[in-house]
Amino acid sequence: MTNAMTVRDGEGELSVEGIKHTKEQLDLFAQLVKETLVRDQDYGVIPGTNSWSLLKPGAANIIAAFGCHSEPFIETTTIDPSIGTYGFINYEVRCEIVLNSPDPTTRLVRAVGHGACNSYEDKYRYRNALAKCPACGRENIRVSKQGGGFYCWAKTDGCGSNFSAAEERITSQVSGKVENENPFEQANTYKKMAIKRAEVDAALRLPGAARFFTQDMEANESDGEAPQSPPQPRRAASPPSRAPLPAEEVGTAPQVSRSSLLNPKRPGDLLPWAARTHELTGPQVFHILGVQNTGEVPDLAAAVQAINDAQGQVIEGSYSDEDANNTGG
Ligand SMILES: [Zn+2]
Repeated sequence: MTNAMTVRDGEGELSVEGIKHTKEQLDLFAQLVKETLVRDQDYGVIPGTNSWSLLKPGAANIIAAFGCHSEPFIETTTIDPSIGTYGFINYEVRCEIVLNSPDPTTRLVRAVGHGACNSYEDKYRYRNALAKCPACGRENIRVSKQGGGFYCWAKTDGCGSNFSAAEERITSQVSGKVENENPFEQANTYKKMAIKRAEVDAALRLPGAARFFTQDMEANESDGEAPQSPPQPRRAASPPSRAPLPAEEVGTAPQVSRSSLLNPKRPGDLLPWAARTHELTGPQVFHILGVQNTGEVPDLAAAVQAINDAQGQVIEGSYSDEDANNTGG
């Protein structure tokens, strides 16, 4: 038995009350962004544009401000060892934003978002292999900028040894971009990332959010969401060059060049880059690098390398309890 719904008079039409309500909601949303959300933590800049990309902590804060919580559902799981060289894993997640209610019989969904993540995304499929240190055995050898020798970077738990450019125990090793031999070890990472993307997507569908923030373009391309997006009003209403953030925020937006997508050019680019490429927050970046702020970063290229290397560990580490639980299932 389904209830036949008919459109009542005035429903789905413009009204003075509706316009007033919308304006109030947008004003409140602007207040939320200005007074509560924090740049580089709740949202970050998409390099090469003036767009603000909503990050996971920001999505959670917006959802909470709407008096809601998110409920993710894994809709599709593909785990196929026969695909490719080392196998293939894909998760597709639907996330519902549900109104908090003391009454367990009511369940009001305010917004729905989708997200996916798979092991063939470049950042998961490949890793930047470092040569093993002949002294301490850690995979931690970097090329020295001065003189072209090698060193085992102490900042990333290395032993600090230096080696000449002719050191055969290093030059004989394969390093650089290699395919990840065991995508299954990171299955939980893909699942968490798919959930994250779905939650951010859902938060952006709450009224007013799309006016301030865009979706991370990289995630957009990889999760196949774009074709399913509702028609254009929100994009037309918020061209990247005129994101309606408070003026002072726009004024201080770091001017990040497109080339810094892969290689930040200045320490100031580091946080937006880490947020974008690894969805790391500022404190997580500082923790990885062992610094208090980006001004303390001695070697930008080495810092980028350290963040790239540490990314898997950080995500896995923060979900270690679930990892342990998952091994049984
Ligand atoms: Zn070493």
